[in-house]
Amino acid sequence: MLGGGFGGAYTARDLAAALPAGEAEIVLLSRDNYLFFTPFCTEIVGGAMEVRHATASLREMLSPRVRVVETEVRRIDPAARSVETDAGTFGYDVAVLALGSVTGTFGLPGIAEHAWFMRTLPEAIAYRNRVISCLEEASRMPPGPDRAARLTFAVAGAGPTGVELACDLVDFLDATQRAQYPDLPAGEVAVVMIEGSARVLSGMDPRLSAYAQARMTRKGIVVRTQTRVKSYDGRTVALQDGTALATDTLAWTAGLAPNPVVAALDVPKDRGGRIAVDAHLRVDGREGLFALGDCAAFVQDGHTLGPEAQVALQESRTVAANVRATLRGTPLRAFRFRRLGRLVSLGRRFAVSEFFGIRFRGFVAWWLWRTAYLFRLPGLRNKIRVMLDWTLDLFFARETVRIRYSRERGRPES
Ligand SMILES: Cc1cc2nc3c(=O)[nH]c(=O)nc-3n(C[C@H](O)[C@H](O)[C@H](O)COP(=O)(O)OP(=O)(O)OC[C@H]3O[C@@H](n4cnc5c(N)ncnc54)[C@H](O)[C@@H]3O)c2cc1C
Repeated sequence: MLGGGFGGAYTARDLAAALPAGEAEIVLLSRDNYLFFTPFCTEIVGGAMEVRHATASLREMLSPRVRVVETEVRRIDPAARSVETDAGTFGYDVAVLALGSVTGTFGLPGIAEHAWFMRTLPEAIAYRNRVISCLEEASRMPPGPDRAARLTFAVAGAGPTGVELACDLVDFLDATQRAQYPDLPAGEVAVVMIEGSARVLSGMDPRLSAYAQARMTRKGIVVRTQTRVKSYDGRTVALQDGTALATDTLAWTAGLAPNPVVAALDVPKDRGGRIAVDAHLRVDGREGLFALGDCAAFVQDGHTLGPEAQVALQESRTVAANVRATLRGTPLRAFRFRRLGRLVSLGRRFAVSEFFGIRFRGFVAWWLWRTAYLFRLPGLRNKIRVMLDWTLDLFFARETVRIRYSRERGRPES
């Protein structure tokens, strides 16, 4: 198993349950020794949840039969049936590719260098620290354009992650700025959402998009649709309509790109660089190689399934069954995705969701969002921790503690 995210970790878990000890050695190669529960990423940024509560230790979550190796995968050689990693070369009979995707910048100047990404836990922590740094620094600055740029937070890309980020960020800024940074006038703190298409959440029903956009505007977020980013130099976002936005902090949630290890792999792929898989989630034309999750392109009813956790989770069950079938020489099972719903939080007590074809918005959708993801979070301990976090959040202020963990004491990370 390559990758310890939703696809890899759950395939390993199901495979360990499906194969008796001694029938196969199961090895999980993963950069981190934890599974990051990405739906809670922006809650971490907003301080509604403690960092570790959105993770599950792979060693704890998986049976001891799964050998977890924390390492960086460098290269896959399907012809030699081997995987090169920082911890050495691993041979395999069957390999499962679940390396996910990375943030894509469309090659726009300055984005990779200056924008803040939101795909991994370290990125979420770094961005949260950045926001708190801006508040600290601005509280020492005189009024003027420099302070305004420090207090303007732009978010590019109004998909689910961008919308959730902008909403959680505004909740955090509202709660902390008034209570903990009284020197900063409320009107000076701004969150600006930049979206290239005509509406936010363009993948959802237009009525839910309209509701989300209206809710964001009521929260004080400046929503700029049909506006595309041209470049960013760390101080100014140049927009394709010829205007510019002065901001010291641009969060970038506008694009996905193939994982570099997958990009370097010579197997059939779709136009977006995702690995083409057949009905059984086998890599087209390669024996003993399966792919799932964000790095795989599974086509169902003429459409490629999107990069979503529920896709990876459902695929993992089929891949585990098919790895076992491959080892035993029995027939493979075809995969079929069943959409359960779509859920997007709009911050405190509001959300939009589609569940089994029914649309919800407002408090009911928010309750559904929290309940659905709480149930999906691995482990009882984490569920209880998150419930406690959310309960405490109802009664206490959000924390603005920023822990610098550079080894050189006191040196800012960025
Ligand atoms: C901020 C955010 C919020 C999201 N919210 C939702 C949501 O609410 N609902 C939803 O359905 N989906 C959501 N998603 C999408 C969802 O997280 C992905 O679709 C899902 O994680 C895909 O699973 P995966 O196993 O393919 O990839 P991942 O879960 O990304 O796992 C890939 C794993 O591979 C590891 N890896 C990568 N490269 C290497 C390497 N070279 N060597 C070793 N290990 C490596 C990574 O560290 C990671 O553990 C969100 C994504 C993000 C970023």
